[in-house]
Amino acid sequence: MNETIKRPRGTKDILPQEQNYWRYIENIVEKKFLSFDFGKITTPSFEHISLFNRGVGETSDIVQKEMFLVKKSDITESDNEENYVLRPEGTAGIVRAYLEKGMQVWPQPVKLYYFEPMFRYCRPQKGRYREFWQFGFEIIGSQSTQTDILSIMLIWQIFNDLGLSEKDIIIDINTIGCKNCRNKINKSLAQYFQKYQKNLCPTCQSRFLKNPLRILDCKETKCQKIISSAPQIIDSVCKNCKLDFKQVLEGLDELNIPYDLNPKLVRGLDYYTKTTFEVRDLKDKTRQSSLGGGGRYDDLVEQFGGNNTPAIGFAAGIERIVNILIEKQTKISTCQKSEIYVIQIGDKAEKKALKLIYDLSNKGFNVNCTMGKTSLKSQLKSANKSGAKLALILGQREIFDKSIIVRDMQDSSQESIPFSKVEELIYRKLRS
Ligand code: AMP
Repeated sequence: MNETIKRPRGTKDILPQEQNYWRYIENIVEKKFLSFDFGKITTPSFEHISLFNRGVGETSDIVQKEMFLVKKSDITESDNEENYVLRPEGTAGIVRAYLEKGMQVWPQPVKLYYFEPMFRYCRPQKGRYREFWQFGFEIIGSQSTQTDILSIMLIWQIFNDLGLSEKDIIIDINTIGCKNCRNKINKSLAQYFQKYQKNLCPTCQSRFLKNPLRILDCKETKCQKIISSAPQIIDSVCKNCKLDFKQVLEGLDELNIPYDLNPKLVRGLDYYTKTTFEVRDLKDKTRQSSLGGGGRYDDLVEQFGGNNTPAIGFAAGIERIVNILIEKQTKISTCQKSEIYVIQIGDKAEKKALKLIYDLSNKGFNVNCTMGKTSLKSQLKSANKSGAKLALILGQREIFDKSIIVRDMQDSSQESIPFSKVEELIYRKLRS
């Protein structure tokens, strides 16, 4: 017997029942961004590897160990192989598009959002996949702290609209300073971690040499213990960064948006500067409690060859949000249900029913029917399940005397009417 083929590790099949949650999230996200005049962007699923090496940073986990290389299946020695990788995150590709498509000359800031799959070759576990979806946004070309506040406000409102409030989530926030602060921060952290260098995990030992700030992001228990007494980043940031951070926090206070100051929050990507934040699931005490994260990345556009262009962005994981909504048994409105269910018994009725279904759906009614031949009882059962308000029944008798039965699915009353009058009755019952 042939062995069945299984889906790749760390991936998910999303079946119709769960798709209702996905559609619900996408609708809320889309509504919010469009109302704030964001444009949607879709970038390629794969990009040149150098984009992420340069953008996300060589000391990040994503670049060091989680990239999916894309290869042609029949590579020969002589092929000049392109090094492409599946996109592990959205920001680098969007900043590339910003420069490549000349968005610098658009009115600034450019506000873009996306809803796309990302790929990371991580160790799969609950809430951690190798292919996962994110919704996110980028605001490129604004350095005002008001943009930071509005960004966090948008995020907070989207999560609230999804049905998640301060009982479920909190915003962790921190500043990691501008590029001029980085040396001082790293120096003070290096000085501290030096004493514990040998006790750090192998990844952090290499981080110690290249970018000590990254150590703060380590989730290993032995590193966590050491990290807990590390110097606070805020003590090493410059006066302007401190002032900006104060303004952001005051703005959030003004709006009554709850947050937790988390002086160790650095996020997993190297491009961040200044304000960084994360939306955390309050009930989840595992490593996967982060529902979304973001922050400023004021140097990335310049790093990719553009002018000095401050920016801020955020991304949230859809699978993790869906999990919470399911756990919370959040009631969501599903898509539009069938309005009319056409029931047919016999070959002649089948033909007439097809034409009726075609005509009624052309007129904008949501029409449904059973595919294939089944009993009246089973078709009525399906009609009930579909949520249709009316069932139209065509049997041999109705074909013979050119009539049709119209059944009200709510009170089970039914009447037989001439077939020629059916549309008129439907309009009266469903559209008046
Ligand atoms: P990041 O792009 O790493 O800042 O992550 C932003 C959000 O994406 C996280 O808060 C998660 O909700 C989600 N996320 C990141 N990595 C994964 C993954 N491997 N599987 C599922 N969701 C993820």
